[in-house]
Amino acid sequence: MTFLYETHLHTCQSSACGKSTGAEHVRAYKAAGYTGIFVTDHFFGGNTAIPRDLPWEERIRRFARGYEDAKAEGDRVGLDVFFAWEETFQGDDYLIYGLDPAWLIQHPEADHWSRREQLEKVHAGGGCVVQAHPFRLRDYIPKALLGLRYCDGIEIANAGNEALWDVCAANYAAWAGLPVTAGSDNHLSKPGQMEDGRLYGVRLEKRLTCAADYARVILSGQSPELFVPEGRLKATPDMVCPDSYWLDEKERAVRTDVDWVKMDGDISL
Ligand SMILES: [Zn+2]
Ligand SMILES: [Zn+2]
Repeated sequence: MTFLYETHLHTCQSSACGKSTGAEHVRAYKAAGYTGIFVTDHFFGGNTAIPRDLPWEERIRRFARGYEDAKAEGDRVGLDVFFAWEETFQGDDYLIYGLDPAWLIQHPEADHWSRREQLEKVHAGGGCVVQAHPFRLRDYIPKALLGLRYCDGIEIANAGNEALWDVCAANYAAWAGLPVTAGSDNHLSKPGQMEDGRLYGVRLEKRLTCAADYARVILSGQSPELFVPEGRLKATPDMVCPDSYWLDEKERAVRTDVDWVKMDGDISL
Protein backbone atom coordinates (compact mmCIF):
# COMPACT_ATOMS: atom_id res chain seq x y z
CA MET A 1 0.00 0.00 0.00
CA THR A 2 1.26 3.48 -0.86
CA PHE A 3 0.01 6.94 -0.05
CA LEU A 4 -0.42 9.57 -2.76
CA TYR A 5 0.33 13.26 -2.15
CA GLU A 6 0.07 16.48 -4.12
CA THR A 7 3.29 18.44 -3.53
CA HIS A 8 2.59 21.70 -5.41
CA LEU A 9 -0.70 23.61 -5.22
CA HIS A 10 -1.92 27.21 -4.99
CA THR A 11 -5.07 28.66 -3.47
CA CYS A 12 -6.92 31.84 -4.46
CA GLN A 13 -6.86 33.03 -0.85
CA SER A 14 -3.08 33.50 -0.84
CA SER A 15 -1.77 33.33 -4.43
CA ALA A 16 -2.78 36.11 -6.84
CA CYS A 17 -2.96 33.52 -9.66
CA GLY A 18 -4.90 30.95 -7.58
CA LYS A 19 -8.38 30.07 -8.87
CA SER A 20 -9.72 27.55 -6.32
CA THR A 21 -10.09 27.92 -2.57
CA GLY A 22 -8.27 25.54 -0.28
CA ALA A 23 -11.57 23.78 0.47
CA GLU A 24 -12.40 23.35 -3.25
CA HIS A 25 -9.00 21.79 -3.88
CA VAL A 26 -9.47 19.42 -0.96
CA ARG A 27 -12.77 18.08 -2.23
CA ALA A 28 -11.23 17.45 -5.68
CA TYR A 29 -8.19 15.62 -4.30
CA LYS A 30 -10.32 13.54 -1.97
CA ALA A 31 -12.43 12.48 -4.95
CA ALA A 32 -9.24 11.73 -6.95
CA GLY A 33 -8.01 9.30 -4.30
CA TYR A 34 -5.11 11.27 -2.78
CA THR A 35 -4.06 10.77 0.84
CA GLY A 36 -3.01 14.38 1.22
CA ILE A 37 -1.88 17.67 -0.25
CA PHE A 38 0.74 20.31 0.43
CA VAL A 39 -0.55 23.85 0.03
CA THR A 40 2.40 25.74 -1.51
CA ASP A 41 1.15 29.27 -2.06
CA HIS A 42 3.43 31.86 -3.69
CA PHE A 43 5.47 33.55 -0.98
CA PHE A 44 6.32 37.25 -0.89
CA GLY A 45 8.99 37.12 -3.59
CA GLY A 46 6.39 35.66 -5.97
CA ASN A 47 2.81 36.13 -7.06
CA THR A 48 1.35 36.68 -3.61
CA ALA A 49 -2.13 38.02 -2.90
CA ILE A 50 -1.01 39.51 0.44
CA PRO A 51 -0.31 43.27 0.66
CA ARG A 52 3.28 44.15 1.61
CA ASP A 53 2.40 47.07 3.86
CA LEU A 54 1.02 45.05 6.78
CA PRO A 55 2.86 44.00 9.93
CA TRP A 56 4.81 40.74 9.36
CA GLU A 57 2.67 38.60 11.62
CA GLU A 58 -0.51 39.78 9.89
CA ARG A 59 1.04 39.04 6.49
CA ILE A 60 1.82 35.47 7.56
CA ARG A 61 -1.65 35.00 9.08
CA ARG A 62 -3.22 36.06 5.80
CA PHE A 63 -0.70 34.00 3.84
CA ALA A 64 -1.81 30.90 5.78
CA ARG A 65 -5.52 31.38 5.04
CA GLY A 66 -5.58 29.20 1.95
CA TYR A 67 -3.89 26.43 3.91
CA GLU A 68 -6.24 26.85 6.88
CA ASP A 69 -9.29 26.69 4.67
CA ALA A 70 -7.92 23.50 3.10
CA LYS A 71 -7.02 22.04 6.48
CA ALA A 72 -10.50 22.60 7.93
CA GLU A 73 -12.12 20.95 4.91
CA GLY A 74 -9.51 18.17 4.96
CA ASP A 75 -10.33 17.42 8.59
CA ARG A 76 -14.01 17.24 7.64
CA VAL A 77 -13.71 14.98 4.58
CA GLY A 78 -10.61 12.96 5.53
CA LEU A 79 -7.71 14.37 3.50
CA ASP A 80 -4.34 15.21 5.09
CA VAL A 81 -3.39 18.84 4.49
CA PHE A 82 0.11 20.24 5.09
CA PHE A 83 1.53 23.75 5.03
CA ALA A 84 4.40 24.65 2.73
CA TRP A 85 5.28 27.53 0.44
CA GLU A 86 6.97 28.50 -2.84
CA GLU A 87 9.50 31.34 -2.85
CA THR A 88 10.70 33.09 -6.00
CA PHE A 89 14.02 34.82 -6.72
CA GLN A 90 14.87 35.82 -10.32
CA GLY A 91 12.22 33.58 -11.81
CA ASP A 92 13.73 30.54 -10.07
CA ASP A 93 11.29 29.02 -7.60
CA TYR A 94 11.81 26.92 -4.48
CA LEU A 95 9.30 24.82 -2.58
CA ILE A 96 9.87 24.81 1.17
CA TYR A 97 8.55 21.84 3.17
CA GLY A 98 8.60 20.93 6.84
CA LEU A 99 7.95 24.27 8.55
CA ASP A 100 4.78 26.00 9.71
CA PRO A 101 3.24 29.50 9.89
CA ALA A 102 4.47 29.95 13.48
CA TRP A 103 8.03 29.40 12.26
CA LEU A 104 7.55 32.02 9.53
CA ILE A 105 6.18 34.49 12.09
CA GLN A 106 9.43 34.02 14.02
CA HIS A 107 11.50 34.72 10.86
CA PRO A 108 10.57 38.13 9.41
CA GLU A 109 14.02 38.24 7.74
CA ALA A 110 12.62 35.64 5.32
CA ASP A 111 11.38 38.59 3.30
CA HIS A 112 14.97 39.44 2.32
CA TRP A 113 16.83 36.14 2.34
CA SER A 114 19.25 35.19 -0.39
CA ARG A 115 18.95 31.65 -1.71
CA ARG A 116 21.86 30.63 0.50
CA GLU A 117 20.31 32.14 3.62
CA GLN A 118 17.01 30.49 2.78
CA LEU A 119 18.66 27.07 2.57
CA GLU A 120 20.59 27.56 5.82
CA LYS A 121 17.63 28.86 7.82
CA VAL A 122 15.23 26.25 6.50
CA HIS A 123 17.72 23.49 7.37
CA ALA A 124 18.18 24.96 10.84
CA GLY A 125 14.41 24.70 11.31
CA GLY A 126 14.32 21.08 10.11
CA GLY A 127 12.84 21.79 6.68
CA CYS A 128 13.99 21.16 3.12
CA VAL A 129 14.18 23.13 -0.14
CA VAL A 130 13.15 21.67 -3.51
CA GLN A 131 13.73 23.69 -6.67
CA ALA A 132 10.47 23.78 -8.63
CA HIS A 133 10.42 23.35 -12.45
CA PRO A 134 14.05 24.52 -13.01
CA PHE A 135 13.79 24.57 -16.82
CA ARG A 136 10.46 26.36 -17.18
CA LEU A 137 10.63 29.46 -19.37
CA ARG A 138 7.88 32.06 -19.43
CA ASP A 139 7.72 35.79 -20.01
CA TYR A 140 8.25 36.19 -16.26
CA ILE A 141 10.98 33.52 -16.21
CA PRO A 142 13.57 34.66 -18.78
CA LYS A 143 16.35 32.19 -17.88
CA ALA A 144 16.57 28.60 -16.68
CA LEU A 145 18.55 29.17 -13.48
CA LEU A 146 19.88 26.02 -11.81
CA GLY A 147 20.04 26.45 -8.05
CA LEU A 148 21.97 23.25 -7.42
CA ARG A 149 23.84 24.78 -4.49
CA TYR A 150 20.65 26.08 -2.94
CA CYS A 151 18.32 23.09 -2.78
CA ASP A 152 17.98 19.54 -1.43
CA GLY A 153 15.88 18.17 -4.26
CA ILE A 154 14.49 18.93 -7.70
CA GLU A 155 10.92 18.87 -8.98
CA ILE A 156 11.40 17.01 -12.27
CA ALA A 157 7.76 16.62 -13.29
CA ASN A 158 5.29 19.49 -13.16
CA ALA A 159 1.87 19.22 -14.78
CA GLY A 160 2.05 22.90 -15.77
CA ASN A 161 5.29 22.36 -17.72
CA GLU A 162 6.04 21.47 -21.32
CA ALA A 163 7.36 17.89 -21.45
CA LEU A 164 10.73 19.23 -22.70
CA TRP A 165 11.34 21.09 -19.45
CA ASP A 166 10.57 17.98 -17.41
CA VAL A 167 12.94 15.86 -19.50
CA CYS A 168 15.73 18.43 -19.00
CA ALA A 169 15.04 18.56 -15.28
CA ALA A 170 15.00 14.76 -14.97
CA ASN A 171 18.37 14.44 -16.73
CA TYR A 172 19.84 17.30 -14.73
CA ALA A 173 18.66 15.80 -11.42
CA ALA A 174 19.96 12.35 -12.37
CA TRP A 175 23.37 13.87 -13.10
CA ALA A 176 23.26 15.87 -9.83
CA GLY A 177 22.18 12.83 -7.82
CA LEU A 178 19.56 14.76 -5.88
CA PRO A 179 16.14 13.49 -4.75
CA VAL A 180 13.38 14.18 -7.25
CA THR A 181 9.70 15.07 -6.85
CA ALA A 182 6.60 15.61 -8.97
CA GLY A 183 3.66 17.97 -8.51
CA SER A 184 0.76 19.48 -10.40
CA ASP A 185 1.37 23.19 -9.66
CA ASN A 186 -2.40 23.17 -9.49
CA HIS A 187 -4.13 26.57 -9.44
CA LEU A 188 -7.63 25.31 -10.36
CA SER A 189 -9.27 22.07 -9.29
CA LYS A 190 -12.06 20.85 -11.52
CA PRO A 191 -13.63 17.50 -12.40
CA GLY A 192 -11.80 15.25 -14.88
CA GLN A 193 -8.22 16.32 -14.12
CA MET A 194 -7.27 12.92 -12.78
CA GLU A 195 -8.70 11.16 -15.83
CA ASP A 196 -6.88 13.62 -18.12
CA GLY A 197 -3.52 12.90 -16.46
CA ARG A 198 -3.29 16.49 -15.25
CA LEU A 199 -2.67 15.60 -11.62
CA TYR A 200 0.85 14.59 -10.57
CA GLY A 201 2.29 13.82 -7.19
CA VAL A 202 4.44 11.47 -5.14
CA ARG A 203 3.73 8.10 -3.60
CA LEU A 204 5.17 7.21 -0.21
CA GLU A 205 5.27 3.88 1.57
CA LYS A 206 4.66 5.48 4.95
CA ARG A 207 1.78 7.82 5.62
CA LEU A 208 2.97 11.31 6.58
CA THR A 209 1.99 12.50 10.05
CA CYS A 210 3.27 16.05 9.50
CA ALA A 211 5.05 18.22 6.95
CA ALA A 212 8.39 17.56 8.66
CA ASP A 213 8.02 13.84 7.83
CA TYR A 214 8.18 14.75 4.15
CA ALA A 215 11.19 17.02 4.67
CA ARG A 216 12.94 14.08 6.34
CA VAL A 217 12.31 11.89 3.29
CA ILE A 218 13.93 14.47 0.98
CA LEU A 219 16.76 15.26 3.41
CA SER A 220 17.56 11.55 3.68
CA GLY A 221 18.58 11.74 0.02
CA GLN A 222 15.86 9.38 -1.16
CA SER A 223 13.35 10.08 -3.90
CA PRO A 224 9.70 9.28 -3.41
CA GLU A 225 8.03 7.26 -6.17
CA LEU A 226 6.70 9.73 -8.75
CA PHE A 227 3.08 9.76 -9.86
CA VAL A 228 3.32 11.04 -13.46
CA PRO A 229 1.87 9.92 -16.80
CA GLU A 230 3.69 7.06 -18.52
CA GLY A 231 6.48 8.28 -20.81
CA ARG A 232 6.42 11.85 -19.48
CA LEU A 233 10.17 11.89 -18.79
CA LYS A 234 11.32 10.32 -22.08
CA ALA A 235 13.16 12.53 -24.58
CA THR A 236 11.73 12.74 -28.10
CA PRO A 237 13.80 13.61 -31.23
CA ASP A 238 12.18 17.03 -31.64
CA MET A 239 13.24 18.26 -28.20
CA VAL A 240 15.73 21.14 -28.18
CA CYS A 241 17.32 22.00 -24.85
CA PRO A 242 16.96 25.64 -23.74
CA ASP A 243 19.99 27.59 -22.53
CA SER A 244 20.60 27.08 -18.84
CA TYR A 245 22.65 28.86 -16.20
CA TRP A 246 24.29 27.80 -12.97
CA LEU A 247 23.77 29.97 -9.94
CA ASP A 248 27.34 30.24 -8.69
CA GLU A 249 28.56 30.65 -5.09
CA LYS A 250 27.63 34.35 -5.25
CA GLU A 251 24.25 33.49 -6.82
CA ARG A 252 25.29 34.93 -10.17
CA ALA A 253 24.06 33.30 -13.40
CA VAL A 254 26.80 31.52 -15.36
CA ARG A 255 25.97 29.87 -18.69
CA THR A 256 26.25 26.05 -18.59
CA ASP A 257 26.80 25.06 -22.25
CA VAL A 258 25.13 21.74 -21.49
CA ASP A 259 22.53 20.04 -23.66
CA TRP A 260 20.37 18.45 -20.97
CA VAL A 261 18.27 16.53 -23.48
CA LYS A 262 21.21 14.73 -25.06
CA MET A 263 23.39 15.04 -21.95
CA ASP A 264 26.40 16.42 -23.71
CA GLY A 265 28.58 19.45 -23.19
CA ASP A 266 30.98 20.23 -20.41
CA ILE A 267 29.03 19.45 -17.25
CA SER A 268 30.95 21.03 -14.43
CA LEU A 269 30.10 23.66 -11.86
ZN1 LIG B 1 0.91 30.78 -9.62
ZN1 LIG C 1 3.79 26.94 -8.07
